[in-house]
Amino acid sequence: MQPPTAPSITLFLLTLATLTLFPPPASASHKNTTLPPLPKSAHASLLKRWYGVKPLHAHSAVVGGWGPWPIMCPTLPSQTQPIRYCFKDARSATTLQPIVDQAVAKWAHALHPASSLQIGLDHAGAKVCSGPAVRADALVISDESRPEDPQWKWEECDSQSTVGYNYGSDERARHTLAFCHLKPGDESATEAKAVQVMMHELGHVMGLQHEHQRPDRDETLTYVCKNLEAYEQGVKDAEYDVHALYDDDLALKDRITLICLDAQSATVYLPDALAFIRGDNMQVDRDDERWPDYAAGGPLDVDSIMIYDSNLAAKNPDAGVSGWVMYQTNGKKPVWMGGSQDASKTSISSGDVERVKQLYPLRAAGGNDKRDQADWGQQALRVRIRDSFEMIVEPPRTMEREL
Ligand SMILES: [Zn+2]
Repeated sequence: MQPPTAPSITLFLLTLATLTLFPPPASASHKNTTLPPLPKSAHASLLKRWYGVKPLHAHSAVVGGWGPWPIMCPTLPSQTQPIRYCFKDARSATTLQPIVDQAVAKWAHALHPASSLQIGLDHAGAKVCSGPAVRADALVISDESRPEDPQWKWEECDSQSTVGYNYGSDERARHTLAFCHLKPGDESATEAKAVQVMMHELGHVMGLQHEHQRPDRDETLTYVCKNLEAYEQGVKDAEYDVHALYDDDLALKDRITLICLDAQSATVYLPDALAFIRGDNMQVDRDDERWPDYAAGGPLDVDSIMIYDSNLAAKNPDAGVSGWVMYQTNGKKPVWMGGSQDASKTSISSGDVERVKQLYPLRAAGGNDKRDQADWGQQALRVRIRDSFEMIVEPPRTMEREL
């Protein structure tokens, strides 16, 4: 319990959409006569530390691609980079605003003034995106559940978000966060679980990729593709190869390697593997700049909100290590999204804070980087949002490091 004297911050109010990250290949008839080489990370020794979009620098390569959200109000003494959201419709606003508020609060230790990042409504008076005052680049948050529709299958609905800000387009609603974790009929769909997933999706929106897909993850994590629930079906489909991806004489074991480790094959025959394939093997489209090889340097953060639970998408989720899709190689320990199997105990980690500070450094007007002047505290924060929501947020979980 925290005393009511915990330092408080009021999150700046502002007013911002989902897509499938990896659309199927344009041509499904492409044949591989040999196994395509699975590229190793060529840059794993660089000092770039975190995995996600590249930071925004003065001469940044992200212009034209995906990057951190842009600087607003550059004349203010302390420049901010707000993620500005709106809701796709009134129902989404009603069901998801409380979830978004809690998730934003739980990110508080990483937000302004620890970094230049803020998260709020694009327009304080217009929650729904269709309002004329809402900007075209606002993040469109939608509740994809359909409790009134008997035909709707929650098992087929997954939360998805765009990763970072798209500088290559001015299309309306190009930034999306489609949310599926308020699932009628799903006993595990608690509010705490919804908040946990919303925290994770907001991490994507900030520009963060999955921690367990870092190109250097194999040094820390073991990935067991055959424990995926969809594995057997994927193997059958790859053997039958109705999309003619493979030459007829490509051995089944090589096809299995591809559906587990190669994005193009996984997209077609084992889509669940896409969320576990190393980022440097993810370029389905070579022009897709959303998976730059941008990682390594710091240790993999097993408590990150951007890591998957060991048993997610598993065939036998309760079987322990023999059923896990992914686990810490050292000691065969599980990993949990946000550091705890209990969703109500989920928090961001100190590593998550550092990633946000790297992508969204505090800047003074005139371009001076203020990141070293700001430090996030180890104390609980009292967070108020729109004067209608308040929460005491415990300090971030600190990574366990073996000395
Ligand atoms: Zn994710």
